[in-house]
Amino acid sequence: MKAAIYARYSSDNQREESIDAQIRAIKDFASHNNIQIVKIYTDEARSATTDDRPQFLQMIKDSEFNIFNTVIVHKLDRFSRNRYDSAFYKKKLKDNHVKLISVLEHLDDSPESIILESVLEGMAEYYSINLSREVMKGMKETALQCKHTGGTPPLGYDVNPDKTYCINEKEANAIRLIFQMYASGTGYTPIIDKLNDLGYKSKTGKSFGKNSLYGILTNEKYRGVYIFNKSSKKINGKRNSHKIKSEDEIIKIEGGMPEIISEDLWKRVKIKMDSNKINKGANTAKAIYLLSGLIYCGKCGSAMTGNRRYAGRNKSLYETYECSNRKRTKQCDMKAINKDYVEQVVIDDLYNNIFSDSAIENIVPDIFAFISEQNKIINEDIKIYKKELADIQTKIDNMLDAIANGFYNSSMKEKSDQLETRKTTLLIRINEAEREAKLNSPTEDMIKKYLKKDSDIKQKSLENKKKVIQTHVQKITVYEDRITTDTIVSLIGGGDGCRTRVRK
Ligand SMILES: [Zn+2]
Repeated sequence: MKAAIYARYSSDNQREESIDAQIRAIKDFASHNNIQIVKIYTDEARSATTDDRPQFLQMIKDSEFNIFNTVIVHKLDRFSRNRYDSAFYKKKLKDNHVKLISVLEHLDDSPESIILESVLEGMAEYYSINLSREVMKGMKETALQCKHTGGTPPLGYDVNPDKTYCINEKEANAIRLIFQMYASGTGYTPIIDKLNDLGYKSKTGKSFGKNSLYGILTNEKYRGVYIFNKSSKKINGKRNSHKIKSEDEIIKIEGGMPEIISEDLWKRVKIKMDSNKINKGANTAKAIYLLSGLIYCGKCGSAMTGNRRYAGRNKSLYETYECSNRKRTKQCDMKAINKDYVEQVVIDDLYNNIFSDSAIENIVPDIFAFISEQNKIINEDIKIYKKELADIQTKIDNMLDAIANGFYNSSMKEKSDQLETRKTTLLIRINEAEREAKLNSPTEDMIKKYLKKDSDIKQKSLENKKKVIQTHVQKITVYEDRITTDTIVSLIGGGDGCRTRVRK
């Protein structure tokens, strides 16, 4: 039997056996049991709470290479910090056919340890649920205090030194004016003119635009509701924009903000806005442009937008995509392209290169390889976050110890708040990254099934065709003589790259 020794010592726990003492006991045990020691790994940790175990991780790694078939520890708590950790690394050793032996404890395949290992996957789940709970708790606590969480405060408000909001009267006047004018039926443009006349600016010193007015008129903060959004961060710059915030990710607290406009005015604006929407909808409904937001002019690079008009003697309907630059400034002379034609080209391309049986066989290995690579990056991120989290926890613990020992000064409170805030942020990041990693671990078979469900793209309803196109197409470029389609799959190196078709 060839064995490796693992010994660990935390300098903050005085009752522990020293590393030398652990090694002596293990060597003694080995010689009594005819075990040959081939390697010794030792870690000296600064604190029991830090995950600073380079030699331990090296030992786990080495277990792959058949150098030893047993790991001996003095006590099992040297091997791991908790049950989860223990089960996880024990399973790794087991996968490499390496046994774990403790000098002081009788470890066998007891029912308890077997159950623990078999539910490892369940534990992983449990672990991440607990984490989310902790994250939510942290966020709710911040939210319940109705405090500013960073960035520029919304127009109309300033932030007190204790991070609560107060009204900025000058800006609040602009907000009241906007709500009152809109409620009495004034359109966006005259409101903007009025704001400019009076010299009102946005928080960043810019003039108001239609979008910023819409944002203000629909912002519940102004009627006194504190809104706390769970941040949906991008991971590794990946496209994440299709995720819509669900209601349970938003915490709303009535009366949590100083109110700038009355409930009555809020309601009148809401009614006005709904009726405007209906009127506008009546004129623009009907046409569904499958390629909107994806189709670009090859001559000047501007977006092409859907256009419909009735022309000719019979007043027949012509639907096209036109270069928006040509429409607006007349500086581009790209011809409009027939809507049905270009949409059919894109659908045919998607079918031939992604959804047909032969295309699926062709691209699935590439997609799988890409996703695996992404996962490596995410897991690397998780490791970095966890390392920082452990460091912060140590700092918090040290500070608590200092306070318990009677060392206290006023700067500690602020420092500890900063640490807790950073801790919450890290927990959120870790939670999101772990969720991402989990969602991101499909088998090749799952990817195939996922693609197969859209192999009927040609037969789908317009709405569903649009969904599929918006998911899979990155960009369509229309030139005088040809059309190119970049799919997401082609961007990650799957399939034959971007497709080019001769323009009719
Ligand atoms: Zn153009």
